[in-house]
Amino acid sequence: MPIKKTPAKKVASKAVTKKVNSKEDAGTPLSVVIRRRIEAQKARFHANDNISAFIKPGELEGLVDEVAEKMQAVLESLVIDTKNDHNTQNTSRRVAKMYVQEVFNGRYVDQPTLTKFPNVSRLNELMIIGPITVRSACSHHLCPIMGRIWIGVLPSKESALIGLSKYSRLTEWVMCRPQIQEEAVVELADMLEKKIKPIGVAVVMDADHFCMQWRGVKDRDSKMINSVMRGAFLKDSNLRREFLALINRK
Ligand SMILES: [Zn+2]
Repeated sequence: MPIKKTPAKKVASKAVTKKVNSKEDAGTPLSVVIRRRIEAQKARFHANDNISAFIKPGELEGLVDEVAEKMQAVLESLVIDTKNDHNTQNTSRRVAKMYVQEVFNGRYVDQPTLTKFPNVSRLNELMIIGPITVRSACSHHLCPIMGRIWIGVLPSKESALIGLSKYSRLTEWVMCRPQIQEEAVVELADMLEKKIKPIGVAVVMDADHFCMQWRGVKDRDSKMINSVMRGAFLKDSNLRREFLALINRK
């Protein structure tokens, strides 16, 4: 995902939130303007929802400014001397950019465009893609989740096929949001079913959750493994076994 580089600006503690220009929105924080558009359409905007349809070109920069200002207030409430501590002088802006433009970017940008190929050779054999590296964060603590995903597809003769790299890009788009692993794998499986219309789709994710390692029980070795089986993978135990055996060898 390309990340636009902008020259770093320092955020003073009294920075003014970037206001929106249009008349009716004058003086309203940009996040509130966007939220009103979403609510007008009765759409959901949970942490793992994509809201790109409600964001106009150029507004992400404004969101970075607003998040930076509020992040600065968090640092101040943590009693960190961001004025004299050279390490934290620009932290609020760095964190704001990291959230909006990188690690939670999958909330704010459109779904990657997919080139679909007709299934000309009428493939109907099991395809396995993975491991795809997953970087996400838990919705509960915003702690990193680092893991791997395997996707199994049993295409039908009528399925549209997508390029291999697109599986990674779609996975990244879903995972670059605050997520709960159980919901993330379901979301990915739903999307693949809709796009490819296969006879069966399977998604397996195993991941380290830093909220178990960095905080909480501080259990360094705990991992979470989730699987979603759809269609043929659910009905055909041989197919399911073949898929699981093949991914376990990787
Ligand atoms: Zn957590």
